[in-house]
Amino acid sequence: MNTLNQHYEEKVRPCIDLIDSLRSLGVERDLALPAIAVIGDQSSGKSSVLEALSGVALPRGSGIVTRCPLELKMKRRKEGEDWYGKISYQDHEEEIEDPADVEKKIRGAQDEMAGVGVGISDDLISLEIASPDVPDLTLIDLPGIARVAVKGQPENIGDQIKRLIQKFIKKQETISLVVVPSNVDIATTEALKMAQEVDPDGERTLGILTKPDLVDKGTEQTVVDIVHNEVIHLKKGYMIVKCRGQQEITEKVSLSDATGREDAFFRDHAHFQILLNEGRATVPKLAEKLTLELVHHIQKSLPHLEDQIEKKLKKTQQELDRCGNGPPSDASDRFVFLIDKLTEFSQDIFSLTSGEDLKSGAGLNIFSILRNQFKFWQDLVERSQVTFSCNIEKEMTQYERKHRGRELPGFVDYKTFERIVTAELQQLEEPAVLRLKDVADIVKKEMIKLAEGSFVGFPNLIRTAKMKIEDIRKVKEAAAESMLRTQFKMESIVYTQDSTYSKKLRMQKRQDDCLDGRVFTFGKPSTNSAASNNDGGATLKEMRRHLKSYYQIAGKRLADQIPQVILYQMLKESAIQLQREMLQIFQDKEKTESLLQEDPGINTLRTCLENRQNRLLKARTLLTGF
Ligand code: GDP
Ligand code: MG
Repeated sequence: MNTLNQHYEEKVRPCIDLIDSLRSLGVERDLALPAIAVIGDQSSGKSSVLEALSGVALPRGSGIVTRCPLELKMKRRKEGEDWYGKISYQDHEEEIEDPADVEKKIRGAQDEMAGVGVGISDDLISLEIASPDVPDLTLIDLPGIARVAVKGQPENIGDQIKRLIQKFIKKQETISLVVVPSNVDIATTEALKMAQEVDPDGERTLGILTKPDLVDKGTEQTVVDIVHNEVIHLKKGYMIVKCRGQQEITEKVSLSDATGREDAFFRDHAHFQILLNEGRATVPKLAEKLTLELVHHIQKSLPHLEDQIEKKLKKTQQELDRCGNGPPSDASDRFVFLIDKLTEFSQDIFSLTSGEDLKSGAGLNIFSILRNQFKFWQDLVERSQVTFSCNIEKEMTQYERKHRGRELPGFVDYKTFERIVTAELQQLEEPAVLRLKDVADIVKKEMIKLAEGSFVGFPNLIRTAKMKIEDIRKVKEAAAESMLRTQFKMESIVYTQDSTYSKKLRMQKRQDDCLDGRVFTFGKPSTNSAASNNDGGATLKEMRRHLKSYYQIAGKRLADQIPQVILYQMLKESAIQLQREMLQIFQDKEKTESLLQEDPGINTLRTCLENRQNRLLKARTLLTGF
């Protein structure tokens, strides 16, 4: 006994204490800690087992009694020390003076959280008990699995309960204690099936048989076989306990008396005696086993726990970075703070609009988006060239019909050429303006994103920047539009350098000849060209060549010119204007103060994150020191 005690104090106690300290740091809010969850079908005896382990009466009886997860934290005190109890749920926390009050308090808490009646809730009730008579254990009691809803319960109560149970037992950190009455067929119990689903090898599942006193005569050997792990194998095996039955409760048999009765029951039982001798029976043995299992489990979970803490710390730091530091309190420091913020934003606006890396690390890149937009524009211009050259004949026929005067057919002059080609180029005007609007929109959005990222937590600052960005967009977009429209007005003048034109024309001619040659070798007259079977064929062909050549040159010009105008106004000019206006903010001293008003939400979030960080850092220290 002495060595066992020593072992306990040296190995077991520190482990349990570690998890307890982690828990009291509140780390459970951030990650799962090793725990034991008790599951079972309704009335299988879950609460009775917990009661026997904790030494306090819990709500129980027939029907659905446990309606919220109940976390039962037990802490063994030294012999002679006082009993201590505390219940907490949601924002409520209350010490319990008398063990006899526990049941009432839990019922009250359940009514508060799951409503008076028969509903269930996912919210945890936490019951802390410290006493010389309890093992060092934390157990979670869960609602029993009900198959059918009773009056007043939602139809899907069974699914609700199952979902709640799964939430607990699917965690790797949880050992599932599956409570099964000895007098039912174990293979059909829903609880065991659920545990097997999440833990197929039974690595973290322990079976507990209850109500051995109710076993039918003649079926005792089956029960012994189950406890011997010969029926449904679980790595952690089985235990068997006898708790107070309904009659014993009515007779007010105390929990400590019940322990004596239990021991006597097994000792005197012809079939179950052997289980007692093997250490697989009685509540005290169960307590011992659970503590050891928990300790073992804790030791196994520690590396994973450390991992989780590291990951969580990193994530918390990232979130904190995103929150930014609050403004300083000193007035002159505040001013400097604002200057720094605005300067950094100004620099980032410049970087954003000139395609350089941002200080804020926001990872925005306007150019990659704009490149697509401009490529789209270029494609459109190119497509228009193709459709134009396909339609030239039609255009010319139409032109003839509408505009030909006394000329004989085939006499096409320079004026006709001018009219056709400029009319065609004007078709590009509206698409160009549309492109401008799209780009203006994109730039505005990216700038706003940058402002939101740079001024996190300062809603007034964000609002001011947004307003300015929107105003500037309007002004610069109008300027760009006017430039674009002027450009298209200028396109009504047909112009290019002589040498450029001659070169293009020669190229076009070579291409045409090449094409004609190909038609000739195939021995077929070219039929696709109306011009060639026309009297004025040669002239028309010539005209066609001119039109195509010039359209290509003008198209190329527009393909470059339009993006350049847009870039100039929407990026360069907008950025300069925005920088200028952001710096003008300083002129209004009173306004600067309001700009630094922090979003209260951010403040809360930062505090919350800082608390978490502190918690996790302490947890890490505890773990590394272990
Ligand atoms: P729960 O719904 O799983 O929490 O089950 P309870 O713990 O409320 O128990 C259901 C009923 O079974 C209660 O009336 C208990 O008194 C009774 N019970 C529990 N364990 C035993 C036992 O070992 N023997 C006998 N005879 N009755 C038991
Ligand atoms: Mg119960």
